[in-house]
Amino acid sequence: MGIDRRKFLKVSGLTVLGLTGGSVSKVFSSEDSTDVIQPVRPAGPLTAQRWAMVIDLRKCQEQHECDDCVTACHTAHNVPDWGNPKDEVKWIWKESFEHAFHEQEHHYQQEKLKHATALVMCNHCDNPPCVRVCPTKATWKREADGIVMMDWHRCIGCRYCVLACPYGSRSFNWRDPRPKIKKIRPDFPTRTRGVVEKCTFCEERLARGLMPACVEACKHGALYFGDLEDAHSNVRALLAERYTIRRKPGLGTNPEVYYIV
Ligand code: SF4
Repeated sequence: MGIDRRKFLKVSGLTVLGLTGGSVSKVFSSEDSTDVIQPVRPAGPLTAQRWAMVIDLRKCQEQHECDDCVTACHTAHNVPDWGNPKDEVKWIWKESFEHAFHEQEHHYQQEKLKHATALVMCNHCDNPPCVRVCPTKATWKREADGIVMMDWHRCIGCRYCVLACPYGSRSFNWRDPRPKIKKIRPDFPTRTRGVVEKCTFCEERLARGLMPACVEACKHGALYFGDLEDAHSNVRALLAERYTIRRKPGLGTNPEVYYIV
């Protein structure tokens, strides 16, 4: 791996242990996993001043058939599978690199990127336009850690947030989603017709001391989650060492999902 392992251990060290719970091995590529200290899940919730995610698209490309993160997320959150794009509800999904990062496109782009896909989700923007337009405060940015939250009970289905989000990160339930949920999990609420939904960085899992379902499910070390405000966190180490991009940076939304390309 490009980042020297010892240096990485030094900079991520105990902070990583404290923050990542069951997913310490995600900080390292698979060939290094034997050197990783076994994770110790903290007793309480996982907390941060500003949660952020780093996605290593190169590792995703190596495993382009892999959908483990999508399956884990949608299973954990009772996301319905309608089987058609018109009714589709999605929290995390793959898009063509070209579409996800069209501002990066140019004629002489690397061939592999022209045909690549990118894993996308809500970016938990620092300056979220979706929050500004919600008339009922059904969506808001959490002061404590920056997560853009959803209260499905407050959502009146006006879809202003769907229109305001420039990333297509919000889905609307045009019909009752329950019949289309493969197996309803009793530990997470289902939604109803007329409600908007999206990724919440697994705030319910963080509260139980667990990493987001997608991060935990990724066996290829492509997803990293940590505290952007902590200079010694895993995500800060990656951002300092790797070249990363964000989606539509020119819009001023300040996304907190970063991509290594
Ligand atoms: Fe809101 Fe879209 Fe940004 Fe998520 S990605 S915070 S839904 S504007």
